[in-house]
Amino acid sequence: MKIFYKKTGVMIFVISTALLAFTGCGNRAVTMQKADTAMGTIISQTLYVEEEAAGEKVTGEIISAIDDLEQELLSWRLDSSEIYRINESAGTSEGMQISEELAGIMEACLKVSVASEGAFDVTIGDVVRLWDIDSWATAESSEGFRVPAEADIMGALEISGYEKINLTENRIILPPKMQLDMGAVGKGIALDVVGEILKEHSEVSGAIISVGGSVLTYGSKPDGGTWNVGIVNPSEPSGNIGFLQLTGEWCVSTSGDYERYVEVNGERYHHIIDPATGRPSASGVRSVTILIKDGLYSDALSTACFILGEEKGMALAEEFGAEALFISENGEISMTEGMEEYFKKL
Ligand code: AMP
Ligand code: MG
Repeated sequence: MKIFYKKTGVMIFVISTALLAFTGCGNRAVTMQKADTAMGTIISQTLYVEEEAAGEKVTGEIISAIDDLEQELLSWRLDSSEIYRINESAGTSEGMQISEELAGIMEACLKVSVASEGAFDVTIGDVVRLWDIDSWATAESSEGFRVPAEADIMGALEISGYEKINLTENRIILPPKMQLDMGAVGKGIALDVVGEILKEHSEVSGAIISVGGSVLTYGSKPDGGTWNVGIVNPSEPSGNIGFLQLTGEWCVSTSGDYERYVEVNGERYHHIIDPATGRPSASGVRSVTILIKDGLYSDALSTACFILGEEKGMALAEEFGAEALFISENGEISMTEGMEEYFKKL
């Protein structure tokens, strides 16, 4: 029996370096590089700033904002978060009053659910818990892994369904037992938060920040070069098959079957669940990368397009004005026409 667990989010490390560079106009720019863990994933930041002290301040602000986002809004585990309290309120007639911020997030999620005909659905928390996906990141072996019984999958699917949510005027009402899971959008939402912080700091001339599989590019490099965002080779995730060459502000999110999975007896069970079956999606796709100006949509669409597969996924991305790149099971790469301008194959 082959057992393999991809271990992500278990490394705890902080690396911080600062290097001096010069901008095209001869101005000083310090390159700050920092890597931390937050939101159960690795956050790496490269910032070009006027001074090291300013860089330290901004990178620190970014990490604490991502921590706050997890603790106050998105975590299903921490009782300090709104999502936790919403889940607790499931089945009550009054539901829960939520913040403006979360109401906006939920509206955007519902928009993607409707457009993807339920392929993307944050109400499938019960199914995600049933597979125990979050434990795969830190488990030492597949000893505890069991494929859930079909009846249990069906039961969990019955509880879920975005169309059963009632969201009006910042009040959300969930039917009994429904559990929200923001795993498919959290990293993208973090990019939006980071983008807002960067805009408040004119001393930052450029930045590239990754939150797990989601990347934000901002401003420009001191040497005027492009931002190069690597696209992982699903068959060999330690390497890239190519990269996106970008200028200015963009969000890039990738959903891949190599990111979180367990492999038992040659079968891979990955973390992107098809709400139509309650099982890991089998759409013939190994990864989808979305390029768009908005973090939340980049993340939500990468998950949705993975489940929809190439043809429908491509149409969905276009509906949202996003570019998409698909890598299929046989290694074929296909993309929207607009993506061709940015993608460079290695
Ligand atoms: P991502 O890596 O962004 O594609 O998100 C995958 C994560 O989102 C999983 O670990 C689950 O927590 C959650 N998830 C899985 N399937 C779905 C789905 N169909 N819709 C919404 N969230 C999902
Ligand atoms: Mg996603």
